[in-house]
Amino acid sequence: MLGCLHAASRTELTYAMAVEIAESDTVVLPEEEAVSLLSREARRVQVLRSYDVLDSLPETVYDDITLLASQICKTPIASITLVDANRQWCKSTYGIDGGDSPREHGLCSYAVENGDDIFIIPDTHGDTRFANNPYVTGDPGIRFYAGVLLMSPEGYALGTLCVIDREPRQFDADQRKALRALSRQVTVLLEERRNASALRKAHRARKMMHAALERSEALFREAYENAPIGIALVSTEGHWLRVNKALCDILGYDAEQLLNTTFQTITYPEDLEADLRLVQQMLSRQLRTYQMEKRYCHRAGHLVWAQLNVSLVWDNDQPMYFVAQIQDISERKHAERAKVEFLAMVSHELRTPVTALRGATRLLTSGSAGELPAKAQSLVSLADRNADRLHRLVSDILDQEKMESGAFEYRKTQIDIEQLAEQAAQELTGYAEQYHVTIETHCRMPQAMVDADPDRIMQVLANLISNAIKFSPQGARVEIHVEPVSDRVRVSVVDHGSGIPEEFHPHIFKKFAQANSTATNRKGGSGLGLNISRSIVEQHGGTLAFRTAAGVGTTFYFELPAINPSRLEPTK
Ligand code: ADP
Repeated sequence: MLGCLHAASRTELTYAMAVEIAESDTVVLPEEEAVSLLSREARRVQVLRSYDVLDSLPETVYDDITLLASQICKTPIASITLVDANRQWCKSTYGIDGGDSPREHGLCSYAVENGDDIFIIPDTHGDTRFANNPYVTGDPGIRFYAGVLLMSPEGYALGTLCVIDREPRQFDADQRKALRALSRQVTVLLEERRNASALRKAHRARKMMHAALERSEALFREAYENAPIGIALVSTEGHWLRVNKALCDILGYDAEQLLNTTFQTITYPEDLEADLRLVQQMLSRQLRTYQMEKRYCHRAGHLVWAQLNVSLVWDNDQPMYFVAQIQDISERKHAERAKVEFLAMVSHELRTPVTALRGATRLLTSGSAGELPAKAQSLVSLADRNADRLHRLVSDILDQEKMESGAFEYRKTQIDIEQLAEQAAQELTGYAEQYHVTIETHCRMPQAMVDADPDRIMQVLANLISNAIKFSPQGARVEIHVEPVSDRVRVSVVDHGSGIPEEFHPHIFKKFAQANSTATNRKGGSGLGLNISRSIVEQHGGTLAFRTAAGVGTTFYFELPAINPSRLEPTK
């Protein structure tokens, strides 16, 4: 069939042919033309099918129209024929059986492809295009045909309203007018049908969507209600808007009681300020989420420790509500507290004897108690080093405990941090010599004045420098730099040791954290030094951080607000 397409006029191109062209690899029409024909025809079929009329049951309103058409045009046969992709299907017929027939050879199909609004064949026998048509030579023996196109509002021909006679005849102007008028009635009916079908489909889709939404909403609600963690929606003023069962259990209230309170009323007063500060930062978009450990007042009167995670839902620029996750961590907190209290108790008991022991070994090693034999001298030195280590451990634990209970005192005064760094370097020279390490200080600013407790900052410096020494290879240098950074003073302690393993970075400031406890233990230490140092620096409004590279070394640095930032100029 493709071969004859060279000669075929465009109007003779059927849908089936167009499909064949598109699927064939021996395309004989220019690709663009074939595709545009195919897509227009495909769209026509799509539009026809949107009427949902093909294969529908007979309907009197359509039958009335074919009856009228046949009577007005005085023909024995009339039909409303719709032209589908590969077939013609009659919605209504008069004087002939309905149903469907192949599209090929169908005269209505021809009328649709022809595209004229009315298509008339006065005598098929005298028309070379149709003289041999099987519907002409065989049943129903068509001699006369007149079909008016049924047009969709989008401009596609869906089929025809046609009248047929077994005799040749003329079609007068009145009959044409009447057939056109009747065809308009058919399109009105079809349009109504399409609208009703679209409405039905939309309604069905809405119902399905609604059911799906309800299902997912129910699933979500169930998950939310039964979550093993407290979840709440909280208004921007602090009112509980929705609370789940786990949260009610944690706080000892039932949902209704909670919904009548605010988070402020049941927050332990000492924790409220910090919480409100974070809330404000979220409302002013400085934070996207926040986490904190805080205490709530349980309805029964006791306190509940909770891990709180909060995010804020926005509607454009309007903050809508907070989503809060609240996890009961009371047990963990009690266990931590018990551990700290136990250590504090043991340390208190140890402090007096250890201080006395250290004093005694100091006296012995300094020779105050007389000259000792060489063997005894080395044993006493060993005892002295270990007494010192024990003393530091006990002090660290006690400092830690004081810090947690808020009893750590700060006596702030104006200090020159550069002088303090020099002093720390001097005090640790002896320690550095034990490790065959040298200490250098580099100051890039004169008079780096800060408001700080000199003993506590000395404690930080001593910890950072002693760590740097401990983790340096023999013969290496530890450098201390003091420099201005914006309105702050930065003190950095640089070593050229092996660096800190990456997996340890998140834990380094935690209590009792040591990267490699066996190696570290040989070097001594409690794993508390950095934790204490960071708390001290933060209490001074500063920050403590580090950078490290394997095999290159580590820099710990802390920054404190300078008293007079305008005077912070690096020395040339
Ligand atoms: P410690 O008393 O054990 O030194 P710290 O809290 O001061 O306790 O340090 C914790 C751990 O951090 C150390 O045990 C070590 O593993 C690691 N660390 C600290 N400083 C350095 C450094 N300069 N180089 C390599 N590792 C370090």
